[in-house]
Amino acid sequence: MSDTTTETEALFEVAVDAGPVLGPTGRPLPDLPEPQPPQGVTRALIIAMCNQKGGVGKTTTAINLGAALAETGRRVLLVDFDPQGSLSVGLGVNPHTLDTSIYNLLLTRDHDVHDIIVSSVVEGLDILPANIDLSAAEVQLVSEVAREQTLKRVLTQVRGDYDIILIDCAPSLGLLTVNALTAADRVLMPLECEFFALRGLALLNDTIGKVQDRLNPELEIVGILGTMYDARTLHSREVLERVVQAFGDKVFHTVIRRTIKFPETTVAGEPITTYASTSPGALAYRMLAREVLHRCPGA
Ligand code: ADP
Ligand code: MG
Repeated sequence: MSDTTTETEALFEVAVDAGPVLGPTGRPLPDLPEPQPPQGVTRALIIAMCNQKGGVGKTTTAINLGAALAETGRRVLLVDFDPQGSLSVGLGVNPHTLDTSIYNLLLTRDHDVHDIIVSSVVEGLDILPANIDLSAAEVQLVSEVAREQTLKRVLTQVRGDYDIILIDCAPSLGLLTVNALTAADRVLMPLECEFFALRGLALLNDTIGKVQDRLNPELEIVGILGTMYDARTLHSREVLERVVQAFGDKVFHTVIRRTIKFPETTVAGEPITTYASTSPGALAYRMLAREVLHRCPGA
């Protein structure tokens, strides 16, 4: 590392083998400050991980961005909002053995959200777990009053306990995802660096637009995150280039490289920041945490 290489550049270099000047997205890298401790936030910032395509890194991003944010001293709640329960599994919670889950909070008023939240292996990182019961909620909520605001009502009860809440959405644009977008302040869209990745984005943007018009005018896109990036393939680089052409500065400078470490962390039931703390994947999610905090001043 030369004396003139900034810390940010060094992190990116390790994370994605990029040159010291241009980042993997083809833009000059910003020199972001190290995150300050939280400023005594009284109302958590809520960010939804959203893309109706499955397997693009929503759950992986919720877990590892959450863990990286917790490392900065923030109190983080991860909301599993996918009936698959992958977020819960990824943090060592067996969703099949849960008597109560987020499902019970959505459909009845008999449960206290604090009793359903569980802590993870990471200090400051809690989970509101889900399991297959949640798939029934999609149908049952249809006949409820204010059906799109149900998750928002649940999260209002814990918003004062956390600095940041991340919602891991299911791979659909149905009522559950509309609930997530209605509860959220921001949306983060993970996008696989694959050829068809851009195809679904118009539909997702359309849904976000409708939610902004009708349910949540404050909703904003915090950023688009390139995932499953393979620096060795021209293809991955081309996809990223097109995403930047289409979305400009909405695209995070951080890009998550494809590595077997992520599937391994699921088996281990812990985030990459503890499983392989100094790995490029862990550094990349720490960098993403910096970018998110920079884009959300006050969080
Ligand atoms: P989604 O929640 O969008 O369906 P996941 O985060 O569950 O996507 O990721 C899908 C699969 O890909 C999981 O097995 C996960 O471990 C793996 N995965 C996620 N990110 C990466 C990555 N950067 N490199 C390699 N595998 C990844
Ligand atoms: Mg998922």
